[in-house]
Amino acid sequence: MVKNIIVSGAGPIGALLSLNLAKRGYNVKLLERRADFRSGTLYAGRSINIALSDRGWRGIEQAGITEEICKIAIPMYGRYIHNLDGSTVYMPYGKDQQAIYSVSRAAINITLLNLASQHPAIEVLFNQKTNQLDLSAKRLISEDTQTGLIHEHQADLFFGSDGAFSGSRLSMQLQHDRFEYQQHYIPCAYKELIIPPDIQGGFKMEKNALHIWPRGQFMMIALPNPDGNFTCTLFLPAEGPVSFSKLTTPDEVMQFFKREFSDAVPLMPTLCEDFFNNPTSSLVTVKCYPWVFKNTLALIGDAAHAIVPFYGQGMNCGFEDCMVLSGLLDRHREDWSVVLPEYQRLRKPDGDAIADLAIANFYEMSASTADPKFLLQKKIEARFAELHPDKWIPLYSMVTFSPDLRYSEALRRGNVQQAIMNQIMSRPEIESEWNQHQIETAILEALNDV
Ligand SMILES: Cc1cc2nc3c(=O)[nH]c(=O)nc-3n(C[C@H](O)[C@H](O)[C@H](O)COP(=O)(O)OP(=O)(O)OC[C@H]3O[C@@H](n4cnc5c(N)ncnc54)[C@H](O)[C@@H]3O)c2cc1C
Repeated sequence: MVKNIIVSGAGPIGALLSLNLAKRGYNVKLLERRADFRSGTLYAGRSINIALSDRGWRGIEQAGITEEICKIAIPMYGRYIHNLDGSTVYMPYGKDQQAIYSVSRAAINITLLNLASQHPAIEVLFNQKTNQLDLSAKRLISEDTQTGLIHEHQADLFFGSDGAFSGSRLSMQLQHDRFEYQQHYIPCAYKELIIPPDIQGGFKMEKNALHIWPRGQFMMIALPNPDGNFTCTLFLPAEGPVSFSKLTTPDEVMQFFKREFSDAVPLMPTLCEDFFNNPTSSLVTVKCYPWVFKNTLALIGDAAHAIVPFYGQGMNCGFEDCMVLSGLLDRHREDWSVVLPEYQRLRKPDGDAIADLAIANFYEMSASTADPKFLLQKKIEARFAELHPDKWIPLYSMVTFSPDLRYSEALRRGNVQQAIMNQIMSRPEIESEWNQHQIETAILEALNDV
């Protein structure tokens, strides 16, 4: 019988999972490699703003902590596109008041960790790096990252929520003779920068929007914070003619920013300092299988499916993992021998689907949002979706605002819709007839043929 559970990795997913398990009456030990990051500056220059959307909110609601997270979240109702010439275009994300929410990863992690450490059934141990998991003996070996001392922990069940470079996953890989593993770095790396508040402490740009400077092979985005800052993230190839490797002096940085993001430069007084002080980090997709081993270890969150951030879904997907797991525990009366295989069966195709969608969305965000043909396609889709909401949900809305639809189904439907739009956009008169009846009819006919 499962009573004692060890969760390795106290990131957002490990913390939320621990809370869910403790509320069900399990004793949870939450091991975290880092020192306690709640009061320090461990997140400095890496805090990242997360776009929290409906799938993530559902996981948060189910854990009963919506009120706490609402306090640190800012709604963003659309994309604010900053063109090269300084002009801007606003594109709402969905219908009515549909929004995604900006939260700092540090703030959401700290909030969840505070809630976890207040729970009497959760013991949080910092500076404990999972080194090895002996699944036959149900034993985890951790190393104290400050003293180097080795500790042994016993449990009935283990979860690996230790992120993209998961030690738990590595243990599984070493003990499983047919473990499948793929890791892919995209050419882009990222760096966090900042737009501070104005003199009165107010926002220097529209607060309730996600700002994007799309520039083809690269882009910058900015998300608002409750204190009036915007956290900017520059996504740029690591190497090549236009890349981080070519920005080595303050002059080169200023020239690049003035050329590419001229309207942002006056808003970024510490640009060069931030650029050289903050780390440049890489972006990886990880796919692996199995996620569950010997019914004793399960991977969850980025440990199971690290994805690139261009759909804003990595954490949302991990929160959805937690929610699906809780639903299965309810349905199967906490029979873990049924729940874990079922969790893997349901979530693996969805993890793969959102990984592929996230890569594809990089090209949409960085290149297509500046392309008039793309903008026209979005207008046609939005018009058709408004006329026939039962027949067409734009892919972005399926992923972001339709939490009842699995990622794998959103990907399938999105591919069908894109094939139809390719036909529509190839019509020679599309610029003039896009809002005419014949376009609506052509889409309806194409849908009937599917
Ligand atoms: C630039 C960027 C932007 C992003 N934007 C979004 C977004 O808009 N929306 C969204 O939903 N997601 C976004 N994400 C993804 C999101 O940050 C991750 O999906 C999320 O943090 C995953 O949470 P996690 O708890 O699984 O892993 P992590 O956040 O990586 O946490 C893992 C934890 O495990 C600990 N750990 C690691 N190894 C060990 C070990 N051996 N032993 C013990 N502890 C260990 C780590 O210290 C860490 O605390 C973004 C990511 C990036 C990089």
